[in-house]
Amino acid sequence: MSPRPLMFFGTTNLDLCFNVERLPTPGESLMGSLKQNAGGKGANQAVAAARLGVRPSFYTRIGDDDAGRSLLQALREAGVRVEAIEVCPGEISGSALVLVGDDGSNMIVIDPGANANVTPSMVEKAAEFIERDAIVVAEMGMPVPALNHLFALKSIKGFDLIFNPAPVRAGLSSAAWRNVDFVTPNQTEAFELTGVQVHDFDSAAHAAGKLLDLGPRAALITLGAQGAYYADASATFALRAFPVKVVDTTAAGDAFNGAFAASLAHRLSIREAIKKALAVAALCVTRRGAQSSMPSSWAVDEFLK
Ligand code: ADP
Repeated sequence: MSPRPLMFFGTTNLDLCFNVERLPTPGESLMGSLKQNAGGKGANQAVAAARLGVRPSFYTRIGDDDAGRSLLQALREAGVRVEAIEVCPGEISGSALVLVGDDGSNMIVIDPGANANVTPSMVEKAAEFIERDAIVVAEMGMPVPALNHLFALKSIKGFDLIFNPAPVRAGLSSAAWRNVDFVTPNQTEAFELTGVQVHDFDSAAHAAGKLLDLGPRAALITLGAQGAYYADASATFALRAFPVKVVDTTAAGDAFNGAFAASLAHRLSIREAIKKALAVAALCVTRRGAQSSMPSSWAVDEFLK
């Protein structure tokens, strides 16, 4: 059976990545080595999915500049369908300053550039690329009015909706929340949305209950090196992360979300899709970079053997 169509909505950035011995304290200057990488949450998620053998579509806005051209090229090379992407004359592409310490921890500052200017009517136009029976994935880097509009289209288009609420922002309507099938925060985002500090699976269960009160059909909280916690109206379970040697945690959550969506598109059960997402995210943190750290389905199968 062929995979279900998959479409991502979100941000693209050019990441300026400095590898440093440790993260700096305020006022401190450190030496580091610079590498430019394609990044942005939405783009990373789409690439993670494409590496697993689906051909996802992606909607984002980029500037008509060198950064935009290289970002588009990286997406094409990864196997992402770029027809829906808007290239915007006179605007600059998003960029991010990423510091990665030797222990794998990171610090990130983002200039959203063209990502910040997505309007509801642009989303309406991009939604023409959502195919029948699709899974749609959205993160929260897009302006909230555009997200409210996208989520409202679920009742017309009938897609399944995965919402990665990162970075958390106010203003998502209660109607929009009720159209979410899976909300997928990390620990920080779960805290920002519910007020519950998530430090283990018990507190994740508490936070998941509060997330479900917002209206989504299911909550899936990622807990870094601990794993992930799932809850819907009829089932709850926790799955442990795969133990690996961490090199760079950049884009772990993006790897998880892209792989979860691709696995649902491949018609795996929810539990199997989460297990695969844990494996993809574990492999991601063993490599440097964002899109460059997304593993192929071959590498994931070898890892799971
Ligand atoms: P984010 O990257 O959005 O902050 P998390 O830190 O929760 O999200 O990580 C997402 C997923 O990445 C986790 O659920 C886990 O599967 C994987 N992961 C993150 N850190 C590690 C780690 N140290 N070891 C193994 N897997 C990890």
